[in-house]
Amino acid sequence: MTEPNAKIELDAVVVGAGFAGLYTLHKLRGLGLRVKVLEAGKGVGGTWFWNRYPGARCDVESLEYSYSFSEALQQEWNWPERFSAQPDILRYANHVADRLDLRRDILTERRVASATFDDRTHCWTVRTAGGEVFEAPFCIMATGNLSLPRVPDFPGLKTFKGEWYHSGLWPEEGVDFTGRRVGVIGTGSSGVQMIPMIAEQAAHLFVFQRTANFSVPGVNRPMTPDVEHGHKARYAYWRDEAKRTPFGIAGHPPPSKTALEDTPEARAEVYERKWGTGGNISFLYAYKDLLTDKAANDTACEFVREKIRSTVRDPDVARLLMPNDHPIGTKRLCLDNGYFETFNRDNVTLVDVRSDPIVEITERGLRTKTCEYELDAVAFATGFDAMTGALLDIDIRGAGGLRLADKWAHGPRTYLGLMTAGLPNLFMITGPGSPSVKTNMIASIEQHVDWIANCVAHLRREGIRLIEADVAAEDAWVEHVNQVADSTLYPLANSWYVGANIPGKPRVFMPYVAGLDKYRMICDAVATESYRGFKLAEA
Ligand code: NAP
Repeated sequence: MTEPNAKIELDAVVVGAGFAGLYTLHKLRGLGLRVKVLEAGKGVGGTWFWNRYPGARCDVESLEYSYSFSEALQQEWNWPERFSAQPDILRYANHVADRLDLRRDILTERRVASATFDDRTHCWTVRTAGGEVFEAPFCIMATGNLSLPRVPDFPGLKTFKGEWYHSGLWPEEGVDFTGRRVGVIGTGSSGVQMIPMIAEQAAHLFVFQRTANFSVPGVNRPMTPDVEHGHKARYAYWRDEAKRTPFGIAGHPPPSKTALEDTPEARAEVYERKWGTGGNISFLYAYKDLLTDKAANDTACEFVREKIRSTVRDPDVARLLMPNDHPIGTKRLCLDNGYFETFNRDNVTLVDVRSDPIVEITERGLRTKTCEYELDAVAFATGFDAMTGALLDIDIRGAGGLRLADKWAHGPRTYLGLMTAGLPNLFMITGPGSPSVKTNMIASIEQHVDWIANCVAHLRREGIRLIEADVAAEDAWVEHVNQVADSTLYPLANSWYVGANIPGKPRVFMPYVAGLDKYRMICDAVATESYRGFKLAEA
């Protein structure tokens, strides 16, 4: 440990050692910068360090959800499954940290409390909760989009005599639910993944569902040598193709037809094929207008509802599991392994907390308006303060003492999701206003980090000390992000994309949904045109 308050001077401070922070360190080191990464966790891996709940698995195929910047790395790593599980992804993050000799510049168990820009020295002072101080001209927030877990403030949680967990803060040693009465609250991607696993262990599992969610089969399988070697033989080609897609994922040719162009029979065949192949992006790529035309979307919704109807034996339970309040895909489409089938088990009960809301956690369990459930353990799969949460959790103050929390009081404002006016030399990786969560995150991370590293290299070459988003460019970008969102069905859902899951959070659509391919071109053009929309200053 460093002495408390001993100031460490650097060229760049990076906050977070997930996939974004690891790659940023590698790139900035390559430019000859002195860099340290401050990480709250005990290890690297970010999301994959924290989300250790049973069944945690990525919904993007591993041959795609991995770094592309090093041919050696992508050739030597072996993924055991099509959609790898959390322990394997965490192993990969650790392998990268070792392979690239990153650990010597990563300080773990350092939660960043504040970042303050000094108008005089033009440096950022970054303080950890433990009192350590780091100073550098550049500050890069690699804090993740889904990294501030949210436990609803039900009264009585402190009195609960059993144990409780959050999907995003799962104990490292795991949890054994054998013989226990367990409650899972939440049926988003995390709930949908953990429910089938917990059901296999628990004496009884109560699933507390407020909103039914669409989910499609993962169709996961072990990696075969054929698939792996075939992909690796043409890795450069696949990575290049991924760059030209909206999601940053290769292998899914863009659909040419609208849903209503097909007859109902032909449509059913298309959906059935997608259902059998597995994958959420693939399913939403059945037709080109599923996320823009409500009537088209309704056909896909009905197909999935029919699947639920035919899978779940109890018709009342099936009805409750059928989503009916949002178009499919406007909330993150879940990917599951036996989710709906789980409700056919005798030891699983679905509780509808929309009609009978949770009132409190008691000493012995959980009470809804009409019923008390005795529980030994509660697993919160209640999500995150997404996209802005982790940034605003840090007291960030820019030029003239501008507080980011004040600036974003009515919602995040950024230029390209990379910077926000008033915070010179502070970059965000996959910040609000960038494609981020609507893409393969690692592809988006690489695009951002490459852009930032090129920008920093340019500034240093030209003797420019400061870069800052211009207010007019930021306003125009925010307007554009909203216009693009409004041309889709996304705003129709009460999703975390609009902050709807956090009481009191301003309702603003946060990701840029025009696609990573278009976004990449915009960012490249901005850089080529002497960083159009940014103010550059020599001192
Ligand atoms: P989420 O999608 O926000 O889901 C939270 C769930 O908790 C919702 O069902 C929500 O119900 C429920 N909930 C929240 N507050 C509640 C309350 N007071 N009472 C009852 N229910 C409540 O969170 P998540 O499942 O952790 O997923 C977040 C995101 O992480 C995903 O969308 C995805 O992008 C990512 N993720 C990905 C994977 C993967 O790659 N496979 C896995 C996990 C997570 P309402 O809908 O009614 O609000």
